[in-house]
Amino acid sequence: MLKPFDSQQILQLRPKLSRPVPGHEPLDAQWEQEAFYDASGDVQATDVITIFLRGSECSFRCLMCDLWKFTHLERTPDGAIPAQIANALNNVDLASRQGAWIKLYNASNFFSARNVPSQDLAQIARQLDDFQRIIVENHPSLCQHAIDFSRQLEGKLEVAMGLETTHPEVLPRLNKQMTLDDFQRACNILHQANIDLRAFVLLCPPWLDERDGEQWCSHSITFAQQCGVRHVSVIPTRGGNGAIEQLQKAGQFHPPSAAALERVLAEHIGQQEFVVTADVWDWPQLRGLCQHCSSLRLERMRRMNLTQRRLPKVDLPCRCSHES
Ligand code: SF4
Ligand SMILES: [Zn+2]
Repeated sequence: MLKPFDSQQILQLRPKLSRPVPGHEPLDAQWEQEAFYDASGDVQATDVITIFLRGSECSFRCLMCDLWKFTHLERTPDGAIPAQIANALNNVDLASRQGAWIKLYNASNFFSARNVPSQDLAQIARQLDDFQRIIVENHPSLCQHAIDFSRQLEGKLEVAMGLETTHPEVLPRLNKQMTLDDFQRACNILHQANIDLRAFVLLCPPWLDERDGEQWCSHSITFAQQCGVRHVSVIPTRGGNGAIEQLQKAGQFHPPSAAALERVLAEHIGQQEFVVTADVWDWPQLRGLCQHCSSLRLERMRRMNLTQRRLPKVDLPCRCSHES
């Protein structure tokens, strides 16, 4: 078995790519719909705009992370994030989207001053007055400024954190520099401050075969739920950062199949007050799909994400195997 990679090795294995430069335009902004449980316990869908912010790289070096591709090396310049938010929201008619949510995703940590300058937080809070829920991503050990930021918001703050996996040997090898206690502690602190929680959980991280990768994903979703997380997003582990490819060559990473993602979603969906979604961003890359079934199955997953109901399996027009 390969020895676990340290931060330096993970950096060296990265492919050489051109990266964004600092600036006042976000990388992208997209509207989508997302499910939530209303006060009566019914599933509703709301409009959510995700602004993919242009900012500096995360200071952690998680083994499986490819988000650095969307960041620059320099500290995020003062004023750049408020300018990007203003540009993304320019021309957006929020009056026609009452109750909309916003995700400010910076591919690093919203509450790291290097990634989002602290002096910009008050201005950012004012820019978000029309949104009912504000979702930001952050490492569990960097939540100190979340409470102060939350008090400045009109809407509800939700902090999205990578739990990744509860597997006791795999989590340390991911180089996340976080224990399950750290995760749980961050959840408690944020919860007590009336801040909601979202977690990212990996399907089939390295060092597990598909069966174990699926079971530990399921276990990790349950752990997140026990920590008071409101929404879990299941992320199929993907290559693209060099380290994962290296592990795959050594037979220590088994990429997840579409059927595994279908099974995990079907198993956990439909629990009151707890949203579980499958990240289908990289759906076509998953194993076990073909041109005849891929879009049919993707559509079913999207509808399950949005309705939080297990839907009947589609009749496959091919020999691929479905969720069983
Ligand atoms: S903390 Fe998040 S953004 Fe930073 S390296 Fe790890 S997975 Fe990537
Ligand atoms: Zn097929």
